[in-house]
Amino acid sequence: MPAFQTSPGMRDILAPESARWRRFTDVFAEVAELAGYGFVIPPMMEDLGVFTRLGEATEIVTKEMYDFVDKGDRHVALRPEQTAGVCRAYVEHRPITPWKTWYSGPNFRYEKPQRGRYRQFDQVGIEVLGSDDAHLDVEVIALGWEFYRRLGLQRVELLLNSLGEPGDRARYIDALRSHFESADLTAQSRATLAKNPLRVLDSKRSEDESAIEAAPTIDQYWSDAAAEHFATVRAGLEALAIPYTIDLKLVRGLDYYRRTTFEFAGLTLDSAQNALGGGGRYDGLVEALGGPPTPGIGFALGVDRTLIACDDEGVFGAPDTDVDVFVVDTVGGGEAVVLTHELRAAGISVDRSFDGRSMKAQMKGANRSGAAYAVIVGSDELAADEVAIRPLRSGGDQVSVARSELVPDLQSRLEEGNR
Ligand code: AMP
Repeated sequence: MPAFQTSPGMRDILAPESARWRRFTDVFAEVAELAGYGFVIPPMMEDLGVFTRLGEATEIVTKEMYDFVDKGDRHVALRPEQTAGVCRAYVEHRPITPWKTWYSGPNFRYEKPQRGRYRQFDQVGIEVLGSDDAHLDVEVIALGWEFYRRLGLQRVELLLNSLGEPGDRARYIDALRSHFESADLTAQSRATLAKNPLRVLDSKRSEDESAIEAAPTIDQYWSDAAAEHFATVRAGLEALAIPYTIDLKLVRGLDYYRRTTFEFAGLTLDSAQNALGGGGRYDGLVEALGGPPTPGIGFALGVDRTLIACDDEGVFGAPDTDVDVFVVDTVGGGEAVVLTHELRAAGISVDRSFDGRSMKAQMKGANRSGAAYAVIVGSDELAADEVAIRPLRSGGDQVSVARSELVPDLQSRLEEGNR
């Protein structure tokens, strides 16, 4: 066993696996930027207070935080999510509203590692600050939906709910508390009840099921304004033909959520862990961080879990790591130094062998690389100022070309191959 390995819940992601991560972010960037969202890069570490503002009843804050005192005696934490950092950045820079942002990067939570749950995990997400318009809720949800479509993931269900206005929510929480106080709950859910009755609805323990089933639902507490907002969101999604399922028990984590909340569930995943991502409207977070009252809405999608769902559906085929050309140099390797450089500068992907291997070993490397052509330089070619081009994938004869003709010759061959 090596002396060092990755910490629990943390992983190395190597090529070719890592290519999927890049593709994931590229597709998300395309979707967000087509809609006028700007890329934001908040720091990975913030003052602990930025995250404690997310709510004292939130597990990612109370139990899972990677916090420590730095050498300057500041109590800091690695971010468990990115909404709080984006809101802190808004207060610090006060950009023009609506401030439409997207982000991508790792978060840290000290959770029990398991498949689909890691201590360092990546999310992509969107946050918009400064507008209360229900049409914005539609835009944000539609962007999430469009992302899955472009990625090619099909078995996704959109779950939708409204938590009402803060007053509606408070009355609903009271009703839930009295319902659950006289219900049969597990000890863990009793502990949750004392802190945040809404979160009892998230329990996946079967012993809690009947109490949750019988619990009152939030729609009975919606004010007229909240009901109207929700109706506009629904109408918008229907106009876009985005299917959704109303889930009146979808509450999500943060204390600041109000009105629209939603989740994207992966239908191929185990139901206890099928949330690919989710989000909603939040109020009060910007204010808690020292800014003016500012409405916000956003979502975060987990990269790791979405990729598991992609595997289930075979979204990504075999990774394409093949190069176009492999240079075989039997005259010492120095010619390959120049040729690879020249071809790469012309935009042709090219690899080579090192360590003075035999012609046979280099040809083996060429075949393994998946290259369409081997470019061969031996002493004859060197003397004639030529190189040999040998097709590897298509069969066909080896030809010799003048060195000065190599780049245009390969370019036209590769173009033809792509046609
Ligand atoms: P949350 O920020 O808790 O609403 O999570 C949003 C999404 O991030 C989830 O639906 C997961 O896909 C992903 N996620 C959250 N926590 C983890 C974790 N520990 N490991 C991997 N993915 C996670």
